Amino acid sequence: MRMSEERREAGIRAKDEMKTDSRSIELCVRCGTCRSVCPAFEVLGWESRNTRGRIMVAKALGEGLAPDASVLDSLNTCTTCGICAASCPAGANPPLIVQAARKGLVSQGIMTEAQAGFRTKVAESGNTFGEAGERLAWLSDAGAIKDKAAAVYFVGCLDSYRYPEVAAKTFDILRRFGVSLLPKEWCCGSPLIRTGSPAEKVIDENLRQIREMKAKTIITGCAGCLSTLQRYYPPEFEVVSVPEFLAERLSELRPRRLDLTVTYHDPCHLGRHAGIYDPPRNVIKAICRLVEMKRSREDARCCGGGGGVRAGYPDLSLQIAKLRLQDVPVGVDAIVSCCPLCIRNLRDAGAGVEVIDLIDLVAEAIDPA
Ligand code: SF4
Ligand code: SF4
Repeated sequence: MRMSEERREAGIRAKDEMKTDSRSIELCVRCGTCRSVCPAFEVLGWESRNTRGRIMVAKALGEGLAPDASVLDSLNTCTTCGICAASCPAGANPPLIVQAARKGLVSQGIMTEAQAGFRTKVAESGNTFGEAGERLAWLSDAGAIKDKAAAVYFVGCLDSYRYPEVAAKTFDILRRFGVSLLPKEWCCGSPLIRTGSPAEKVIDENLRQIREMKAKTIITGCAGCLSTLQRYYPPEFEVVSVPEFLAERLSELRPRRLDLTVTYHDPCHLGRHAGIYDPPRNVIKAICRLVEMKRSREDARCCGGGGGVRAGYPDLSLQIAKLRLQDVPVGVDAIVSCCPLCIRNLRDAGAGVEVIDLIDLVAEAIDPA
């Protein structure tokens, strides 16, 4: 599909594929450009809590530094937003360095409570919340799950358990195009991978079902799931974001114009990590007025929720979200985004305006099935 080929050229993904973490560490010339963009540093203000400091910590660990609580805090306050990679003149990829350093420590049993919590919850329940309830409880028509389907909607833990109405609205639209669901979806593995834990078991569970269904396209509305499915699953199928899917079907969906003015928050794992900037904007502009945030696209600030930071450092996470909210233009009716984690964090930070999923806007603008 054309969209995926474009994406392969985009953003920091190409950098990811080129460099291992150790090579990336050597690329860092300690110029400090990244200090001015790191959202965690903006809040915390310590050298060990910015990109360059984290790289030095990772390097020292490789040289035998004994890890302590401050090392864990340095590495685990990174949201993996990737704005440092996008601005690094030397081509280093700090989020991958951080992930690799976390993984090294976790493999020795050294981790924070939040990191251990993700492991236990996913292992025991198959989801990141440790929820015992049915993952597809939001689905009113179990017959919508086919034995075989060329395209499958991957819902993700957040929409399955925290925003089931978003999952229902998304599937209501996707199923019009023949899209089905996995019968027993598991966590995609993103929270495990970002926080340094192995994710093979959940990947294998999802992969087995994708193969059984003979699905060739996986569609997801979660930015974290998208980048995980793209990078950590074998390239046997195409991974498409919901905004890309919708943008390519606007002529069939024929949305009405709504008298609204909205702004758009670029999720880090959809924008910088996957290079998807225009499709959500094209969908919004087909429905209503769009006013850009003060910082947008590759320059967009992080919501503060990713990389395990929301779970491990909730105050920091909300302070980063509050900084992001300063970029919202005055007078908009809503902030639109395409990631349930971003939406949750911006809402919890007290946005003062509605924060909605792109699918909420689209569902409002199209006729019921
Ligand atoms: S990661 Fe890049 S921007 Fe940051 S200090 Fe190293 S070379 Fe400079
Ligand atoms: S990925 Fe984001 S939070 Fe992590 S070091 Fe880079 S700029 Fe800071």
